[in-house]
Amino acid sequence: MDLERHDFQLDELAERIAKGDHRLVALQVPEGLKIQALEIIDEIESRTDANVILSGDPCYGACDLVHNKMGSMGIDLVAHMGHSQMNIDSGIETQFIEVTYDGDPELSPALPFLHQHREMARARLKESGEEQTAESEEEAQEKFLDSVGRVAPLSDAKLGLVGAIQHLHLLPEFKQRLEDAGFDVTIPVGGARLSFPGQVLGCNYSGDDPSIGHYFFLGSGDFHPIGLVLHTGKPLTMLDPYTGDAREMGRKQIDRILRQRFGLIMQVDGAKVFGILIGEKPGQMRRNLAMRMKRMLERHDRKGYLIALEYIGPELIDFYPVDAFVNTACPRIAIDDSTRYSKPLITPFELEVALGEKKWEEGYRFDEIP
Ligand code: SF4
Repeated sequence: MDLERHDFQLDELAERIAKGDHRLVALQVPEGLKIQALEIIDEIESRTDANVILSGDPCYGACDLVHNKMGSMGIDLVAHMGHSQMNIDSGIETQFIEVTYDGDPELSPALPFLHQHREMARARLKESGEEQTAESEEEAQEKFLDSVGRVAPLSDAKLGLVGAIQHLHLLPEFKQRLEDAGFDVTIPVGGARLSFPGQVLGCNYSGDDPSIGHYFFLGSGDFHPIGLVLHTGKPLTMLDPYTGDAREMGRKQIDRILRQRFGLIMQVDGAKVFGILIGEKPGQMRRNLAMRMKRMLERHDRKGYLIALEYIGPELIDFYPVDAFVNTACPRIAIDDSTRYSKPLITPFELEVALGEKKWEEGYRFDEIP
């Protein structure tokens, strides 16, 4: 990653520190940019009268705002970098600092995927009036593994244009380029957890709607594309502004994840005792969901123990004498990291399937935090 090409917009922060006469500021920087954290501290301290304490803990999202622990150090402002405001209140004044990357990749490598996906979306749109049922359990399984199991009703075959937060400034320009290339483009607007049109999070794809038949994602890595395809069951083209490379989030990769999820559901079939994980981070805390899982387990003559953690890792939970874990904190811990744990780690939806409350053949439900 070329760090020099990231723009950290510190002006508003400097103004806010001066206006509020803030003296002790906590700085939160995402993992990929932490190597520049000391330079950022120098810049803030040289431009203001504040002292800065870097939060050295891992930070993967705005769900993870500095809260009570640093509050007790006397912090009176949090400078949170690289993520945007969410529908949560951490209890401490917070300034969100935009980070943008200046890469502007060529559209052309993405076009073959986009054309192919538009055809898939159009074919699906044509079929969407027809009833799509499965004759047998086996067929349902196959259907699930082939298409995320859920044939979402489409009203159109538009291209949904989305991006990772540091590339969102490119969306208007890319919308125009895609329209010039003949695509009918929409930039989806999501719910309260998202701040900007076209924004997606690893746990929230609420901008999806039936008019969108396929997706184009500007960003790097598989994290957002995996979630978006699991959530929507729609084809997705990715263009990486760091490398200029285009590819698709292939069905093979999604199938592999779904097979793994199904395998975990089968493994917990006979499980009697569960640990139910509750995230302590302000934007991951889903206590009510955890309580609902506990009650559901009791209804099925199983036992659920509630375990709250700020960070979740194998070394912190593997040793508990339970048969499996249900995770209500960041949904991606179960989806992306379950192989690191010695016991099955599943999502609330997957527990519902394992207990027969939901049907696998009706399609996979991504664990979204609204
Ligand atoms: S995916 Fe996880 S880390 Fe990212 S914003 Fe959502 S809860 Fe936070």
